[in-house]
Amino acid sequence: MSASVVYCVDSRNAIESVAGAWSRFAEENGAPELRPEAVLGRPLTEFLAGGALQRLWCLLLDRVREHGRARTLPFRCDSPDARRFMELELRLLDRGRVEHRSRLLRSESRDPVARVHPGARRGEGRVVVCSMCKRIEDPVEGWQEAERALALVGELPPARQPSLDHGLCDGCAASLERAAEA
Ligand SMILES: [Zn+2]
Repeated sequence: MSASVVYCVDSRNAIESVAGAWSRFAEENGAPELRPEAVLGRPLTEFLAGGALQRLWCLLLDRVREHGRARTLPFRCDSPDARRFMELELRLLDRGRVEHRSRLLRSESRDPVARVHPGARRGEGRVVVCSMCKRIEDPVEGWQEAERALALVGELPPARQPSLDHGLCDGCAASLERAAEA
């Protein structure tokens, strides 16, 4: 489960190669649209949800190319029965190419939570999930740990579950900005 997912963008931020656990990851997540042959040559921004994330990611890539120094970003990639704390490293290769390599920092077991599929047809209402840390925005209480929010959503019958939109929470926007500035 812990093998790295690796992908590389060319100097114009199009996906040039994928390696490591990419294929297995696409399969396990039931995402045929992420098969290597389906993603090569496409702009990376197509896979980043929301304008804020796309803008900050492009800024970060510019900085990596400008200064030639690797940057790392924390993110979460949970499975139903584990909290998975991950790190993504962006590293400059030749010809302006930038390698993205994820690795698992640590994993904590938990009681399995219902998996909520972003594409499922749902009832009224929308909730925003942070693309980086997977926390969910509560209009009243702010950004909440995903498993708590998903446990509540998962208990609802499918027809009453809200739709999930991807966004970027304040904390992750700040950590992306910090990584771009560093
Ligand atoms: Zn976040």
